[in-house]
Amino acid sequence: MKSYDVAIIGSGPGGYVAAIRCAQLGMKTAIIEKYATLGGTCLNVGCIPSKALLDSSHHYEDAVKHFEAHGIEIPGEIKVNLEKMIGRKQAVVDQTTGGIDFLMTKNKIDVYHGMGAFKDATHITITGDTNEEIEAKHSIIATGSKPTTLPFATVDKERIITSTEALKLKEIPKHLIIIGGGVIGLELGQVYKRLGSDVTVIEYMDRIIPTMDSGLSKELNKVFRKQKFKINVSHKVTQVERNGNEVTVKAENKKGELVEFKGDYCLVSVGRSPFTAGLNAESAGVKLTDRGQVEVNGHLQTSASNIYAIGDVVKGAMLAHKAEEEGVFVAETIAGQKPHIDYNLIPGVVYTWPEVASVGKTEEQLKEQGIAYKTGQFPMRALGRSRASMDLDGFVKILADQTTDEVLGVHMIGARCADLIAEAVVAMEFRASAEDISRMSHAHPTFAEAIKEAALAATEDRALHI
Ligand code: FAD
Ligand code: NAD
Repeated sequence: MKSYDVAIIGSGPGGYVAAIRCAQLGMKTAIIEKYATLGGTCLNVGCIPSKALLDSSHHYEDAVKHFEAHGIEIPGEIKVNLEKMIGRKQAVVDQTTGGIDFLMTKNKIDVYHGMGAFKDATHITITGDTNEEIEAKHSIIATGSKPTTLPFATVDKERIITSTEALKLKEIPKHLIIIGGGVIGLELGQVYKRLGSDVTVIEYMDRIIPTMDSGLSKELNKVFRKQKFKINVSHKVTQVERNGNEVTVKAENKKGELVEFKGDYCLVSVGRSPFTAGLNAESAGVKLTDRGQVEVNGHLQTSASNIYAIGDVVKGAMLAHKAEEEGVFVAETIAGQKPHIDYNLIPGVVYTWPEVASVGKTEEQLKEQGIAYKTGQFPMRALGRSRASMDLDGFVKILADQTTDEVLGVHMIGARCADLIAEAVVAMEFRASAEDISRMSHAHPTFAEAIKEAALAATEDRALHI
């Protein structure tokens, strides 16, 4: 039987990054993955393929709607070749997952393909093409998550689908009904809206992207309505039925009335649930919470002291970069180091256009916690860069402590905000004040100037260009 310092179950961004860091720290490392390719949800059916389709559909929309204004004329009709678009997405996925194979080999990590299950706290059985058993001094559970389903909706993977199927449809829906106005619903909804579908979003809460700052929800809602999305907030879906090629969704509105929606596809995107099926966690003494997550302490250690858990399978935001930070954290903890993660500074991004990005506290959280704060906001449309590219929607909002001026939260919506948020993370990591940001030179003309202007507005209400 082969013996390891660390065995990692699951090869998503949490698992594979943990494996690399363990190997860098000199530990003999194995990784176990039940699927044929490495990379988990993120690389195979999550972040990467969704961004590939967002990029392709964005190019198409630009060509159809915006090229003319730039003086670019394309003779003849511009058409979508969906098969080719999905094929390009798959090529990107294949290249990226292949990259993880390379990284495993480079770092001398043993890769096992098969279902990993605990026999006890130091032994794992792997059931795949061959059945094996390995011994591990430490283990890391990185088994991720799967789409949450609704008890009354049968996901048939043809017409009633999850994000996994939405990434490989064979036709463009005529009318796509989306249950859940969260990140997946809006990103994939925008892909198909751009390709020509009618898109109806049904959201239970009173706003879309309800966990983000409400100012962002309001602005995105406004832009999406301009893009002809049909958005129904405060609607709780209670029934989903398929009849041939037609799907009927019924939802209860605020007044308690039943509202009916009919379409040809329905995407169920109501969150994701931790995945521990088949892991046999109890045999190793690993406890789960009532919500099915692996229970961990502040060191991400489970109830079995030599077993850790990271990523979507534990509490916290279900984000690839959060899983990666936790992978590094656990590897360094096992190696005897004292790492640290500031969960308040893990940014959240929605890759629609305009992009939405956030870090730190929202206004709602600051109010709830009774923290006195001041606000500086700057509209994207006042930037020269925005006018040059015709990306006028959105704003940057900085929330700073009323007394100390320390930046407590940054919330932005607009072109390239997914990349711009990194400046806010750096500033907050170094505990910058709004004045610190306002006194730093920002290249002109850039979208980043909106951050400087919002900081000026927060410091002394003296933005320059508005
Ligand atoms: P996962 O990536 O889910 O990996 C877990 C792996 O464990 C899987 O490969 C699974 O097969 C394997 N596994 C499970 N059980 C076993 C077992 N018993 N034995 C062997 N293998 C097992 N996040 C972002 O930060 N940015 C984005 O843009 C983004 N876009 C997304 C888009 C979509 C459509 C979806 C669905 C998700 C997106 N996410 C995004 C979320 C992101 O994918 C997850 O947060 C991330 O993948 C979690 O990483 P993980 O390592 O915890 O688990
Ligand atoms: P989500 O939690 O973002 O959104 C789900 C939405 O569905 C919520 O707003 C919720 O109120 C609503 N909902 C739940 N039940 C409902 C009902 N019966 N009727 C109507 N609405 C209902 O979840 P998601 O969009 O499925 O994404 C899952 C996870 O994947 C998220 O945690 C997210 O972090 C991650 N993800 C991240 C990115 C990114 O970082 N860009 C992209 C995609 C997914």
